[in-house]
Amino acid sequence: MRRGFLLDGKAKPKGAAPPPAARLKPTPLEVDTNAKASQATSVPTPLKAMDRGSDREYSVMPSGVIENAGRPDGYITGKFTIHEDTPGVDVPDAEFMFTSMPPGAPDAVSCIMTGWLKRHLLSQPGFPKPMDIPEKPAYRIDNIPGKGKGMIATRKIKVGDVVSTERPLKVDPAAIPIPLDFPAHFSDMQMHQAFLYEKGVITEKIVKRMQPERQAAYMSLANTHLHDGSSPIMGITRTNAFGLENMCEKDGAANDRASWYSGVWDHQSRINHSCSPNVVRTWDTASFSQQMRASRDIEEGEEITVTYTNLTWTYERRKGDLKPYEVDCDCKSCSQVDHTRSDKRRTSFANPPPLRPPMGPVPSGTAPDAWIAPALKMIRLMEAEGLECIPQYPKVLHQIVNAYAFMADERALIYARKLYQAKRVRMEESSSNGFYEKLCELDTLKQTLGMAWGLMRLAARGPPGMVMPMVFCG
Ligand SMILES: [Zn+2]
Repeated sequence: MRRGFLLDGKAKPKGAAPPPAARLKPTPLEVDTNAKASQATSVPTPLKAMDRGSDREYSVMPSGVIENAGRPDGYITGKFTIHEDTPGVDVPDAEFMFTSMPPGAPDAVSCIMTGWLKRHLLSQPGFPKPMDIPEKPAYRIDNIPGKGKGMIATRKIKVGDVVSTERPLKVDPAAIPIPLDFPAHFSDMQMHQAFLYEKGVITEKIVKRMQPERQAAYMSLANTHLHDGSSPIMGITRTNAFGLENMCEKDGAANDRASWYSGVWDHQSRINHSCSPNVVRTWDTASFSQQMRASRDIEEGEEITVTYTNLTWTYERRKGDLKPYEVDCDCKSCSQVDHTRSDKRRTSFANPPPLRPPMGPVPSGTAPDAWIAPALKMIRLMEAEGLECIPQYPKVLHQIVNAYAFMADERALIYARKLYQAKRVRMEESSSNGFYEKLCELDTLKQTLGMAWGLMRLAARGPPGMVMPMVFCG
């Protein structure tokens, strides 16, 4: 017998910079109820991949059309236990249980989680915190030509404002380290199929624990995994899940996908992909919900979109990553005949250059702020590509605010306002106790270390780097 572990990666990642090529490839897709029929070529995937920062091995689930898909002959169902959540019985830290969260809530989420995570959540003061739901609904779910269902803005939504806050229908780990036994002759694909079978059995149990109307909502979601061995219920999860990247397991590093949980939503799972999306999604563990905020102004009637892939990748790489989702992206970047310019821009965004102030007098004919120009240009290009949603955007803004503050130049305020909105979009403004909003005021800015040094340098009539040479890294 060969031993394997039920570890898979599903759930669309955030637009964050990914681990290197060997990272676990997230298996597919978001889809719509009218999703195009599978074009159906087999998508070859390696059986195992090593995730950065982890020595764990992962099974990478197949997609597309797989011959002889389904539970392989000779495979005997694994014998493992996921505990029931029984009052008065503590499940050990590293063992899994079926439970609902928050307990007793009318929209309680059907979950599988470890004993540790459940205790951790319930020990948080005020858990669950109230969800931040807009007073006036901001969207409707509707048919989108060529895309099936999607989300449409029903009013103007300003940058930073909440578009949707919703608890998932279900939450379970992106990977469950459960040992499985395989006959020695099993091929990699047969092991894949056994994984999918077991994962389907578990997923079916979670779904059956949902309240009837939530179960019906789950079953009405699209499934594009019709020919790869996924059961219908498992296919819906693979089609619709998003990762909850910041809800980690005990000792789980942020880049260790074995620690990641994923969720499936009634409404939010309907949102379509764009390579220039207009919302950022953030999992808010405190309210056990996912929030989507506008990363730029959205007009009434505009489609609301999010990314399923890494937006600093080239067109071809994004296209390959989106293939299992059956997404034929028609964004302004993908629609171009020649992707060279967009590819060059996007790949450059992955690693914004550090800004270094001049160490001595500025040569005549050079603008005093010439050293900030690369960051200013990058922000312009990010906005031109519609990428206010990527994590590098606020980092570059931060650099510019620091740099202008260091020059005692009030143009810092222009970028401080953008930075404040970018922080609101990512739900980082509230956790900063309003720091970024205060930074939009000149009086506050003058009190920052950077601007205080800048003012001192101006008083001494020195060059920008004379007083405090340093590297700004946001
Ligand atoms: Zn696109």
